[in-house]
Amino acid sequence: FWRTCLKHFEQELNAQQFNTWIKPLKLEVCPDEENTLILIAPNRFVLQWIKDNFVHPINEMAYSHFAEKINFKLELENPTHNQTIAEEQISNPTNKEKNNLIIKNPIRSAPAKPRKPSSNRLNPAFTFEAFVTGKANQLARAGAIQVAERPGIAYNPLFIYGGVGLGKTHLMHAIGNYVIELDATAKIRYVHAEKYVSDVVSAYQHKSFDKFKLYYHSLDLLLVDDVQFFSGKNRTQEEFFYAFNALIEAHKQVIITSDCYPKEISGLEERLVSRFGWGLTVAIEPPELEMRVAILLKKAIAEKVELDENTAFFIAKYIRSNVRELEGALKRVLAYSRFTGQSISLALAKEALKDLLAIQNRQISIENIQKTVADYYKIKVADMYSKKRVRAIARPRQVAMAIAKELTQSSLPDIGEAFGGRDHTTVLYAHRKIMELRGSDPAVNRDYNALIHILQG
Ligand code: ADP
Ligand code: MG
Repeated sequence: FWRTCLKHFEQELNAQQFNTWIKPLKLEVCPDEENTLILIAPNRFVLQWIKDNFVHPINEMAYSHFAEKINFKLELENPTHNQTIAEEQISNPTNKEKNNLIIKNPIRSAPAKPRKPSSNRLNPAFTFEAFVTGKANQLARAGAIQVAERPGIAYNPLFIYGGVGLGKTHLMHAIGNYVIELDATAKIRYVHAEKYVSDVVSAYQHKSFDKFKLYYHSLDLLLVDDVQFFSGKNRTQEEFFYAFNALIEAHKQVIITSDCYPKEISGLEERLVSRFGWGLTVAIEPPELEMRVAILLKKAIAEKVELDENTAFFIAKYIRSNVRELEGALKRVLAYSRFTGQSISLALAKEALKDLLAIQNRQISIENIQKTVADYYKIKVADMYSKKRVRAIARPRQVAMAIAKELTQSSLPDIGEAFGGRDHTTVLYAHRKIMELRGSDPAVNRDYNALIHILQG
């Protein structure tokens, strides 16, 4: 985590700032408090500067890295007058700072009231307003809004699944933020599945299941993120089964996310799998080009920088895998622009993303796609250019052609050529067919997404 932070700030700040303020810091895990890290500064100046400038970004980074709130403490290295320089708790960013990032609310226009920090662990930046909608997520978003408006009544549970970085966590927090804004007294808890597992373990060790149950069973809204982490954890699944039942019976809303469909989570008890399907199950798909552009433009507004459409299209065309990567690319462009003092342009974006694009282009060649797809379907690579028409071969070949059209910069005739001298209309047809099938045949969609995932690493 610290290495990621350092890298990030090395890009964000100029060399002098970085060397003066950030580099001398040390990070340690707090031995006697949970979820707490200690930043050790070599002197008071650094300490003060960090306090003034560093709190917000590092909280944000820690949040996105660990998916839960981490407390930071500031300390001086070998304090000489340990009376006067007490340990200083870095507070969470104030609501004022956070609200700067939030774009005006299209659903409800009540201004966000400042709230006292609470234990729900919601990230206030993850709102519906900040969530860009497109074909890839419109069902998920519609379901989420209904649940947010009528928690416990509309659909229970709401199960959101999809690949990494596609907005599951964001959407889940958006529901929580919406609910809490309507009812500040609602008892809400966001918990990552891994944290829930460790809560169960610690309840087990301390024989404190009563307390555990009292807490989880009395919530109004429980958000469990990345439930695939329950896989093979029997005791956790049993506890969660009780909590789930208690909440659903009391008409309290449960929201769950996972990287795959409930039935595909291996090592999950059948009774949980079936319960997860009781309410509404919705998928989030990777965003299409236009949606990726829209996301970039929205993030640029949030960051208060000017990004023209051409540049946004350029970034979106090359960064396809998920929204998180897209954000990362935009941040790189912004950092580069700040660093060089040039405004954002197509040329600047090309320069800033040079390394990233080189890596992508090297990895994803048509050849590579053919081999990966053939391996995946356990057929011969030679069948990618053969004339065989049996479904077991023709379908994977179509998948490969569709992926080649999506992921490479090759023209349709070039792709056709690479697939045994086929016509460009064959490639076009294959692409259309596979996109259609992805909508109607879950198996094709799953294979396609898995292959994209493998190819993009
Ligand atoms: P997941 O939980 O599916 O891995 P996240 O919810 O953590 O993904 O999303 C990754 C990042 O992308 C977050 O910063 C999130 O705000 C952003 N993001 C994802 N989807 C969207 C969207 N539709 N509009 C705006 N931002 C999005
Ligand atoms: Mg997530």
